[in-house]
Amino acid sequence: MGIGRRDFLKKSAALTAASLVGINLKIKADGIAPVEASAGENLAQIPDEVKRSPAYKKEGDIEWVRGVCRFCGTGCKVWLGLKNGKPAIIRGEKDSQINFGFLCMKGMLFYKLFRHPDRLTQPLYRKSKKEPFKPISWEKAFDIMADEMIKAIKKGEWGPMGWTGIAYYGSGQALTEETYLFQKLFRCIGTNHVEGNPRLCMASAVGGYLTSYGTDEPAGGYADFDKAQTVFIIGSNTAECHPILYRRIMKNKLANPNGYMVINVDPRVSPTSKIADIHMQFKPGTDLALLNALAHVIIKEGLYDKEFVSKYCSFHIYTKGRDKNPLIGHAVSFEEYKRFLEKYTPEYAAEICGGNITPEMIRKVARRFATTRTVSIWTMGLNQRTRGVWVNNLVTNLHLLTGNVCKDGADALSLTGQPNACGGVREGGGLCHILPGHRVVKNAKHRHQLEKIWGVPKGTIPPKPGYHTVKMFSAISYTEEDKRRFPGLKPIHFIWIEETSPLQSLPNMRRFREGFARDDVFVVVTDIFPTRTTEFANLILPAAFHFEKTGVYGCTERRSQLTPKAVKAPGQAMPELWQIVNFAQVLAKKLKRERDPKLRKRASIVYQCVAPFIEAAKKDPWWTLSKEVWNEYAGKVTKGQDSDLSGATYEVLLERPDGVQWPAPTVEIARKGGTLRRFVVGKDPIATKIAQTHPEYRDWKCIDYGHLHKDHKFWVWLRPYKGPAEPPDAEYPFVLSTGRVIDHWHTASMTGRIPELAGDYPYAWVEINPKDAQRLGINPGDLVLVETRRGKNILPARISTDEGPMEGMVFVYWYDQEKSRMINFCTLDAFDPGSKQPEFKICACRIKKYAPAQPLKSFIVKLEKVRGGYLHNAELDPNEK
Ligand code: SF4
Repeated sequence: MGIGRRDFLKKSAALTAASLVGINLKIKADGIAPVEASAGENLAQIPDEVKRSPAYKKEGDIEWVRGVCRFCGTGCKVWLGLKNGKPAIIRGEKDSQINFGFLCMKGMLFYKLFRHPDRLTQPLYRKSKKEPFKPISWEKAFDIMADEMIKAIKKGEWGPMGWTGIAYYGSGQALTEETYLFQKLFRCIGTNHVEGNPRLCMASAVGGYLTSYGTDEPAGGYADFDKAQTVFIIGSNTAECHPILYRRIMKNKLANPNGYMVINVDPRVSPTSKIADIHMQFKPGTDLALLNALAHVIIKEGLYDKEFVSKYCSFHIYTKGRDKNPLIGHAVSFEEYKRFLEKYTPEYAAEICGGNITPEMIRKVARRFATTRTVSIWTMGLNQRTRGVWVNNLVTNLHLLTGNVCKDGADALSLTGQPNACGGVREGGGLCHILPGHRVVKNAKHRHQLEKIWGVPKGTIPPKPGYHTVKMFSAISYTEEDKRRFPGLKPIHFIWIEETSPLQSLPNMRRFREGFARDDVFVVVTDIFPTRTTEFANLILPAAFHFEKTGVYGCTERRSQLTPKAVKAPGQAMPELWQIVNFAQVLAKKLKRERDPKLRKRASIVYQCVAPFIEAAKKDPWWTLSKEVWNEYAGKVTKGQDSDLSGATYEVLLERPDGVQWPAPTVEIARKGGTLRRFVVGKDPIATKIAQTHPEYRDWKCIDYGHLHKDHKFWVWLRPYKGPAEPPDAEYPFVLSTGRVIDHWHTASMTGRIPELAGDYPYAWVEINPKDAQRLGINPGDLVLVETRRGKNILPARISTDEGPMEGMVFVYWYDQEKSRMINFCTLDAFDPGSKQPEFKICACRIKKYAPAQPLKSFIVKLEKVRGGYLHNAELDPNEK
């Protein structure tokens, strides 16, 4: 298991220090040879406009190009160094207000992927999933894809969500330009079956902000960590998942050990708990009771901010059967809210929450929260829950009650997991119910605004949202159980997956994998490496990697940053934008020849969708094409919206060492970095304009202008305590929870190929509380059978008195690609009724010793040359069948 996790902080600190000065630390390099371009090959390919900008410099024989880290949602700014034309080093940008020059290990090492021998470098095709892949040309690939898509459309139906037979599944790792153009293409073809993996990680945060603020995304940003007195970390292992932010919190804590308090709320003792003054360890799934109890104390003891609450807040509840729209519910009085909280006494909550939670601890934390400037941060611990939206609301409630929002050092900040879940998918319209620029599918005005901008006929975008992720993949597996679960479900026969591996990351995935294996589902995957998902592809399209193409990432704090092209892509790998534009033209030609007028009508719409970009795709798909797509998106689609990025041109983004936070409606505002503090009059251009133009808001200090909040107030929600979908019982007495480890990124398709990272964590394990281990006779390293109602894993045990889950809970990491250690065979696909995000964090399981400790092998999916083409190593393994 590589380094002891106790050494984590030491190693992390050493690496971040090294990253600042650009030292390439050699930690460990076992197994895989270093990645090199062939001798003498010059891979530098830097557009002239970049070379003339502050995003480029030359120092000796190193050319440096500035962009963003490829991995997490922190958005660290990096310099990629090319020595003699080869990617050789990555260091942090010291003028960035995000990372101040520091990087974690993943950020320092991703240059090793540019010429990795496993890179996909040519389109590969097979008619049947039982055959080997054969290399084909791009022309042939688009030809086959267009035929298969039309076939799938004809097999399906036309309805209010558009064509039922086809779908797109994207990623929070795709560039904003890519998500924007992908969703535009699919809406223009005529379907709202547009989804992306942020449904698995961020959807509940979207639902939380939408209901609390009336619009998505946070009010403040990372700068608040430096002005805060308390950091409330709930459901986030920040130390491992957002190490550079954790470093910032740690620095503040070390500088002011008594005045800067860290409260960690988590059923598990994680590396994050190490700097916590208070660790609230509660039974998984009881956080709603805990958070309502904190609000109870704040109200009961008169600690709430009376002016902020009376002037800027209103109170809301959703009652099924009475209210039409769950996002709106109906308004209630402050008195009614107080009555609702009556039962959530600290004693009542402590009883429900168990663990180390005491009534006195609840009172102490509530008092601290209310009487200091507090920033809350959270990630999957709150989002991946069947009550994810509610629990998001309850954290924001505490900020609204105590006036801990819209001021320095105070914010409710949901940390984004992926680098572009916010900028690309949430803002770019990459989910089935939303459209770009924070518009929604159901709103006819929003649809028509886009149709006008795109120059396509009114009615092009279907009026009903498509299928959310679990439903979309159920429409592919299409078992009797799926049909019972989703009455009226229509099958999907064609899917285009971009930069993500759902057949490792989806919950309860056995049936999804079986569905994908069928030959009546045509699967296209655009990616840079073989994955557990390319195993089920008919067509694999090689993509250009980060810095091999150009585009924008938008991180946690509404901040957009550009990564320009710097490195030549290998073989025939091409940017997704080029793939979309070329495929659309082939599709348009074929649609024109169709007999069905509904299909024929779409030919000109599909052509019009990409027409503005055809010339750029021909001449310069690496830079100009991206710039033109960005100009349409930022300049026209976001203009006038709350996520206004029309001032953030590529020119401005190249200049800025840390990008632009929206709203940034003019170049002048964007040049200064945009808007740090949203909703605040005098600081946010939209709030300021409302105060200036509407006499009734003239004396307001902050204005909630979320489109759902007609009263222009922040909404406090009444959300009762409810437990998880599958609590433990006599048969399955443990809670299974899952998460990430610092060295690996998601399904490890990239980090599993970087020796320094893969060497430290070559395989996943199960963390067990020492008391449970002793009771079950499990020793450290023993192989343990982890079993749920859906599947099983065999994993080595990690038992620590220092870190790990509370009694009755086990924790497993989901990056491992080895089939018996892929934990998503076991997880639960129950989802939040509002956000549709699955409950990865809690399901019932049982464990038992399977075998004594023994050496284990790591596993990475690869393509192997076989007679007649290529097959994945897993497809060649008889144990896999
Ligand atoms: S913290 Fe996230 S964004 Fe920053 S270097 Fe690490 S992986 Fe990259």
